[in-house]
Amino acid sequence: MILILQPNVDRSGEQYRQLISHLDDSKYFTYSIHEVQGTEQRLTEIYLLGNTAALAVDQMKSLPCVDRVVRIQEAYRILGRHGEDVRQNGFTYNGVTIDQDNLHVFAGLCAVDIPEHVEMMFSALKDHGQVTSRMGAYKPRSNPYSFQGHGASSLPWVFDLAGKYGIKIIAMEVTHESHIEEIQNALKATGNATGVMLQIGTRNTQNFELLKHVGRQQELPVLFKRGFGITLDESLNAAEYLASEGNPNVVFGLRGMKNQGGDPHRNMVDFSHVPVVKRLTRMPVCVDPSHSVGSRKRSPDGILDVFHATAQGVVAGANMVLVDFHPAPSKALVDGPQALRMNELGWFLEDVMIAREAYESRAALAARQ
Ligand code: PEP
Ligand code: MN
Repeated sequence: MILILQPNVDRSGEQYRQLISHLDDSKYFTYSIHEVQGTEQRLTEIYLLGNTAALAVDQMKSLPCVDRVVRIQEAYRILGRHGEDVRQNGFTYNGVTIDQDNLHVFAGLCAVDIPEHVEMMFSALKDHGQVTSRMGAYKPRSNPYSFQGHGASSLPWVFDLAGKYGIKIIAMEVTHESHIEEIQNALKATGNATGVMLQIGTRNTQNFELLKHVGRQQELPVLFKRGFGITLDESLNAAEYLASEGNPNVVFGLRGMKNQGGDPHRNMVDFSHVPVVKRLTRMPVCVDPSHSVGSRKRSPDGILDVFHATAQGVVAGANMVLVDFHPAPSKALVDGPQALRMNELGWFLEDVMIAREAYESRAALAARQ
């Protein structure tokens, strides 16, 4: 059970003291206190753990400072949306708000290669008013002899360049706990020129020890990708590891499922699950059309499959699009064949806006019913 206290509650006040003393007296549960800082208000939530089935919602609601009471299901305790749960979702990081109501495009290189390419990418994003990007410095590869990413040595110049072009958040995968500190140190060394959203790749969805390490730091938000060969429930439970360790600032990423039914796409596009994840949890939802589709093929209407898949996710209410671009795809060290080109950025963003407007019209129509 979660007790949601009145916004901006005074934690040194008499009423709050009375509430805590009441909770301390209970033999039926233990509790933990969580602060959620939103853009406009600070919310204090108290999680009651134990035999809470015996507690009456009305009685708990009548305690001092308590605004609302949410009875939670066992699954996805912190990230889940429980019953008529209308608590705020999302977070603000480095000046950018990411929640279930808005949309950001994170276009960038699958893998960091040379400064010229990274700079061309950031510069094009700036020209198009974008402040978010993707850059892989640590690459999990199927083949041990393939390029594994430039790692920590590339971070200082990538972050400096990001700062130069006003990039506020870079989604960057980590494959080992040591990468977290390497990223934090490099950010500090560049005077926090930019920000990083730590990415958990599909191959690490159930790497619980890595999830615990990433969850223990609360400074950097997390893009958590769905496992490509496990159930949605298993992936959502794995995401909860991040929150249970202390970091609830998690975006859930759909990136296609490994399934031969998906051929000739690299993976079976699963973007019809966007509204499902938004209903089951309070996480903003990301779609990755590049790793889902895996090619630059286009249909007779002239639209690339990557654009079509993106639109399918956005028209279903996606909040983030992670997409591979490259200034010279034939020279890309990873995933060149699926990368969009720099001169396609404006077209891509305009296509995304068309799908977003369609989604907003659909949501307004539903609200009128
Ligand atoms: C990526 O985004 O670079 C990536 C490797 O994605 P995934 O984990 O979805 O394969
Ligand atoms: Mn890739």
